[in-house]
Amino acid sequence: MSRNNSHKFIIISLILLVSLTCLYLWHIRKTGVSDDFFAMDTIMSLQAYGKDADKAVSEAREAILGLDAALSVTNKDSSVYRLNSTGSCSLNEDLQYLLERSIQIQEMTGGAFNICIYPIMKEWGFTEKNYKVPEEAVILELCKLVNGSKITIDTTADSVSLSEDAMIDLGGIAKGYASMKARDILKAHGINSALINLGGNVCAVGKKPDGSPFSIAIKDPEPDDTGENTFTGVLKVSDKCVITSGGYERYFEEDGVTYHHIIDPSTGYPAASGLKSVTVVSDDPTLADALSTAVYVMGKDRAVGLWRTMRDRFDLVLLSDTGQLYITEGLKDCFSSKLEYYIIE
Ligand code: AMP
Ligand code: MG
Repeated sequence: MSRNNSHKFIIISLILLVSLTCLYLWHIRKTGVSDDFFAMDTIMSLQAYGKDADKAVSEAREAILGLDAALSVTNKDSSVYRLNSTGSCSLNEDLQYLLERSIQIQEMTGGAFNICIYPIMKEWGFTEKNYKVPEEAVILELCKLVNGSKITIDTTADSVSLSEDAMIDLGGIAKGYASMKARDILKAHGINSALINLGGNVCAVGKKPDGSPFSIAIKDPEPDDTGENTFTGVLKVSDKCVITSGGYERYFEEDGVTYHHIIDPSTGYPAASGLKSVTVVSDDPTLADALSTAVYVMGKDRAVGLWRTMRDRFDLVLLSDTGQLYITEGLKDCFSSKLEYYIIE
C-alpha cells in the first residue's frame, strides 16, 4: 500500500469508528440499557438512559445482588443469618443504616413496623414457604420476642446484638434500601433518567428521556379474569419512589381462610386493618418501603394521623377492603384512576 493510501485507510477507519461510537451512544440515550434479574425473591428490572448506562446498570445490579446475599435470612453466609443464629454479628455500613432506620421507623409507627417479626414469620411458614396456621399459644409466646427493644447497636465495637431469642427479618425494608443504593450508583455515573423496579418497588430517577414524567401504575390487588393488566391508578412522577404493599403479594389458604405475609406485631396474626393495598410515594425509598408495610398494619386512620405529622416526607394511596380509594393531597396533580377517589387533606 502506498503512503497516501495508508493515510486514507487510517482516516476512513477513524471516521468509521467515531461514527459507530456516536451511533451506539445515540442508541443508548434513546432506547436505554435494561437488565432483568432475580434477587430478594422477586424479579428486578433496571432501565437507564445515558452515556455510561451500561456500566452503571451492571454496577447497580452487582450491588443489589451483594445486598441480597448479605441480608437474606436463609443464606448461611449472611450477616443477618449470623445475627439470628448466634445473637450477634459485626456491623457494616449497610446493616447499621438498615437497623438504625428500622428502629426509628418502629418508633414512628407505634410498633407497626418491627423487624423482630422474624420468629413469627417463620412460625407461619412464610420464610420457607411451608405454610401453616400456628397454635394461638405459640403465637402469644413468640410475640414476647417481637415487642419492646431487642436490638442493641454498639458503634464503638462495630457490633449488633439481640436480646433473648429475638431474630430479625429485613424483608419489609431491604428492597427500598436496595433501590436507594441502585439510584446512588446510577447518579454517580451521571445517569439522570432511569427506572428502577425491584419487584413492584419502583424508583424514577429524573424524567423520561423525552422530558416527560414516568408513569407508574399501581397494580390492582384483584385483577379481573380477562387476563388484562388492570390498575388501581397511575402516578406520573419524576425523582420519586412509588412502593406498594398488600396481603395479595404472598398468602396461603387453609380451611377457606386466607393468611397473608404482613404481620401485626401486636397480635402475631396477619394484619387486618381494613386495607387491601398501600402505596407510599416519597423521595426516600427506604422510608417508603418500611412505611408501606407499616401502614398496611396501621390502617387508614392511624396512617393519616402519621401523614399529617410529616406530610412533606411522603404521600399515600390507600385502597380499602371495601374498594374505597384515597390519596393524600400531595398526589392530587399526578394521580389518575378510573375509580372514584377521595383526597385526604
Ligand atoms: P413488604 O412487601 O415490603 O410489605 O414486606 C413484607 C415483608 O416484611 C414480609 O415478607 C416480612 O419479611 C416483613 N414483615 C412482615 N410484617 C412485618 C412488620 N409488621 N414489620 C416489619 N416487617 C414485616
Ligand atoms: Mg415494605
